[in-house]
Amino acid sequence: MSMSFESEVEEARVDAPSISKSTFLMGCQCRKLLWFRYNAKDQIPAPDAQQQAVFDQGHEVGQLARQLFPGGIEVGQGIDDFDELLALTQQTLKQRRPLYEAAFAFNGGYARADILKPVGMDEWDLVEVKSTTSVKGIHLHDLAFQTFVLNGAGIKLRKSFLSRINPEFVRRGPIDPKQFFVLEDVTARASALSREIEGELDEMFKTMGLRQCPDVPIGPHCDDPYPCPLHEMCWSFLPDMNVIGLYRGGKKRFRLLSKGITALKDIADDFPLTDNQEIQRRTAITGQPHVDKPAIRAVLDGIKYPVSFLDFETFGTNS
Ligand code: SF4
Repeated sequence: MSMSFESEVEEARVDAPSISKSTFLMGCQCRKLLWFRYNAKDQIPAPDAQQQAVFDQGHEVGQLARQLFPGGIEVGQGIDDFDELLALTQQTLKQRRPLYEAAFAFNGGYARADILKPVGMDEWDLVEVKSTTSVKGIHLHDLAFQTFVLNGAGIKLRKSFLSRINPEFVRRGPIDPKQFFVLEDVTARASALSREIEGELDEMFKTMGLRQCPDVPIGPHCDDPYPCPLHEMCWSFLPDMNVIGLYRGGKKRFRLLSKGITALKDIADDFPLTDNQEIQRRTAITGQPHVDKPAIRAVLDGIKYPVSFLDFETFGTNS
């Protein structure tokens, strides 16, 4: 189950001569991040309290999902040794019971499956648990990677499922996992994508073996699908009042960066900006605040006393 890279259970395998699922997903997001993960892991900041809370929540959701497949065996709890986990998995498979965190390796890829459910005489269904309410591209890539590794390791996979949270679920008392989760069959999509994994792994091994970190410009990928832990390092060249702060700037911000324009004040007069973005540019050039007194007055004049205020806070722990 996972909400981001670091929450992956097999995270401890990063130093192994293989690519774990979490490392693979990092490589899908950014080759520079992949290089650091393998060559300079100590320079990747540890998750902060907020990120840790998200990981912990993902773990809790994963535990809950196991109740959908009761009577299972957790493989290798507390064991870090790569070979021991693989051997233990092979022994446990024979019991034909649901398995949690079974470990497999193939062609340089290493994966632990959230849940494997035995089907018939010798087949298995693979279930990946996500703490999100929808299926995202990265989830399919995740399952494609597992499909590639498990198939290569000799597992006969019948179907692959994504277990995600039911957005319609309303809690009344104890959580019923059958109501809380939606099991989505993604077999066809994961299987089609799995054909690309071998080539992607080859590319990733090449990147990891580079002497120098690949030069990857910052871009939307720094926050998609996950906020990159190297954000601070890679984005530190940006000056105060930079183009990334453009209001609703979207891809326009990165177009400016690709032209070498980093500061708001350096945006050319004829560059297309919205009214609000133009205000930002102007204040950056003049150093003077922008105050639209008539607009403020119009809002204030529309208020009829007495006035009541409702203040509320909320938080989102999903990603
Ligand atoms: S911040 Fe962006 S460019 Fe830097 S490693 Fe992360 S994803 Fe890659």
